[in-house]
Amino acid sequence: MQFDRNNLPSALVDQVNHMPKIELHVHLEGATQAQVFYNLAQKNKLDFGVKSLEEWQSFFAFKNFGHFLKVYTLAITALKKPEDYTYIITEFYRQQAEQNIVYSEAFISASFIIQKFETPTILDAIEKGIQEGSEKYGVKINFIPDISRELVDTQMAVVDFVIEGYKRGLFIGLGIGGPERGFPPELFIKAFEKGKKAGLHLVAHAGETEGPKSIWGALNALGAERIGHGVRSLEDAKLIDFLTTKQIPLEISPSSNYALGIVKSGEMHPIRKLLDLGLNCTINSDDPAMFSSSLSQEYFLLLKQGFSCSELYQMNLNALAVSFANPSTKLDVQKQLKTYEKERIVFESIDI
Ligand SMILES: [Zn+2]
Repeated sequence: MQFDRNNLPSALVDQVNHMPKIELHVHLEGATQAQVFYNLAQKNKLDFGVKSLEEWQSFFAFKNFGHFLKVYTLAITALKKPEDYTYIITEFYRQQAEQNIVYSEAFISASFIIQKFETPTILDAIEKGIQEGSEKYGVKINFIPDISRELVDTQMAVVDFVIEGYKRGLFIGLGIGGPERGFPPELFIKAFEKGKKAGLHLVAHAGETEGPKSIWGALNALGAERIGHGVRSLEDAKLIDFLTTKQIPLEISPSSNYALGIVKSGEMHPIRKLLDLGLNCTINSDDPAMFSSSLSQEYFLLLKQGFSCSELYQMNLNALAVSFANPSTKLDVQKQLKTYEKERIVFESIDI
C-alpha cells in the first residue's frame, strides 16, 4: 500500500499542516535524522563503517525489525558527549515546530544514558537543550525517559535518574520500551513503584509485538496510565471492555506498525476498529526518522484510509486531554486550537 500524500487534495494537506498538533508517543533518538547522527559521528571521530553520508543514509533507511534495532544501537553510539544531547534535543524542537506540533511528550532512552554519563552532567546538557529549543521554537515538550526492557538491570538507576530530572522540572514520567518479547512488564515493578511514589507519571509500551497479557501486565503490575501501541488489545474482548470503560488512552503509531509488521502492509489499520469499539485513541509517529515518517504523514496515511479530518482532529483533542501537560500549558494549547477552529475552512475527506 502506497501512502503518498501527493494523492491527497492540497486543501486537505493544508488543513493537516495548519492544525496545531499534539503528539504523545515519539522517541527523541528515533526522531533524530540520519544526517544528525552522521554529523555527530564525524565530530566524535566514530567509525560507522560507511564511506559517505549517502551510504549511511541508505543503511539508516528502514528495512526490517532486526535491521532497525541494529541501526538504532549503532546510531546512538554517536551520542558520546553530554552536549550531543543538547544538540539533538534542540533539533527535535525544530522538527516538531516545523510540523506545527505545539505540544509533545517524548521518550529518551535512559538505560543507555545512565551507562555513559554522570547524572548531574547529562541533566545539565538536557536542560540546556530544552531551554534553547523552547526559547527558539516556542513549542512545549515534556520528556519521559524510558527503561530499555532488555536492560532490566538498569531499571533502578534509570528511575533514580528520572526522579533527579523530575525534581529539576525536566521530566514528567517514566516508561518502558524496547523488545517486549521475553521482557514482561512484571520485571519492572520495583522501578515503577519507586517512580509512582516520587510523583512520576507512568506509561508503557505494550500490546505491540506481544498480546493482551502484556497490556494487562502494564496496567495491573505497573499502573501504566497510557499504553504505547496496544493494538493487540483487539485479541481480548475483556481487555477491550476494560480499556473502554476506563478510557485508558492508546498511543497509536500507524507507520511504525506497518514498518515492523505488526499490521500487514495492504491491510487497513486496526485504529478504525478500536475507535468504533469506543477506545480512546491518539495518533503518533513513534520513530519518525527511522520509519521515514512524521506526524503529518500519519494523518495523511489515515486520511487515505477513509478517516475524515474531523475524526483526526478529535484524536488530536483526545491527545491533549490525556496528556500530562500542566493546566496552563493545556490552556495555552486550547487557545491555539480555538484560533485554528475559527480560521479553518472545513474540507473533510477524500473519496477512497
Ligand atoms: Zn515507541
